[in-house]
Amino acid sequence: MSDINTLLSSLDKVKNTGPGKYIAICPSHADRRPSLSIKLTDDDKILLKCWAGCQVTEIVGAIGLTLSDLMPEKPQGYDRAHARVPRFSKSEMFDRLLHESIILGLGIRRLLNGKELSPADIQSINKAESIIDELRKEVSR
Ligand SMILES: [Zn+2]
Repeated sequence: MSDINTLLSSLDKVKNTGPGKYIAICPSHADRRPSLSIKLTDDDKILLKCWAGCQVTEIVGAIGLTLSDLMPEKPQGYDRAHARVPRFSKSEMFDRLLHESIILGLGIRRLLNGKELSPADIQSINKAESIIDELRKEVSR
């Protein structure tokens, strides 16, 4: 049965970004800034998306939960045809894209100012690129 509070209490750096929406550190990879988007859908499913590419099963497994912990308790004879796969909206993906664009912009500005990029900067930029690529795949799904 889905319980967003159990999930959130197992995660680090949880931040509420809107009604039923959160970001957090992904427990499934060495995450430095929150890659994990969490959303509670209208029909009580918990949607997880690691923009660095972790599978949902890996993410729940890393905190000792299973996929069934993301699903609401269904009444007997529940109509599977109505069980649509939850997705992030275009505007939520756009917010993420904007965030990653800012990271890239900061890197570009450092270079334009004749400053070196630190290894951490380069890591952030590489990550921003892979998240943008992941967003592109998600939008064209
Ligand atoms: Zn991850």
